[in-house]
Amino acid sequence: MAAFAALSYAIATVSPLPEMSFATALTALSANFIGGLAPDIDQPTANLWNRLPAGGVWSRILSPVLGGHRFISHSLLGVILFGFGLKFLLGAMSSVVLVDMNIVWYAFMIGFISHLITDTFTREGVPWLFPIPINFGIPPFRFMRIKTGGMFEKSIIFPGLMILTAYIYYAHYGRFLDILRKIIN
Ligand SMILES: [Zn+2]
Repeated sequence: MAAFAALSYAIATVSPLPEMSFATALTALSANFIGGLAPDIDQPTANLWNRLPAGGVWSRILSPVLGGHRFISHSLLGVILFGFGLKFLLGAMSSVVLVDMNIVWYAFMIGFISHLITDTFTREGVPWLFPIPINFGIPPFRFMRIKTGGMFEKSIIFPGLMILTAYIYYAHYGRFLDILRKIIN
């Protein structure tokens, strides 16, 4: 939800928004969704893995490598590695797929970074400076932060993000309509 809210905000405010095809818009939307889940590949119980075929097997193979809970993929180093890795991957694909990979890359990274920012508000915090083993959080006192999967997250944060996203669409509705018209044509 945070990934989608951030993407919506970017679409509403980035000016001028590049022209894009329907295929690009759809791919970018998927990339944003995957980017929002991707940092959790370092958690064996990650949502991401449950959505993939044989995900359980992969998570058992990868989680010892990636660390366990909130490690490298929850850090600036992870952002850089994923950013470069994806750039390379998309670059290799761009000769075969007719999609604007630049836009797809931004959509993924917006999802990825918004995940890390959201996690920063949780009790566990985020090891932004991995491999330095310090978890950072906002607010700095652990007890003031949100419990992952807890009542506050479900009853306040999630609906709050939904309302925020709805508001972004409402406030910039002319622009979204314009973009939609361009994409479909
Ligand atoms: Zn996470």
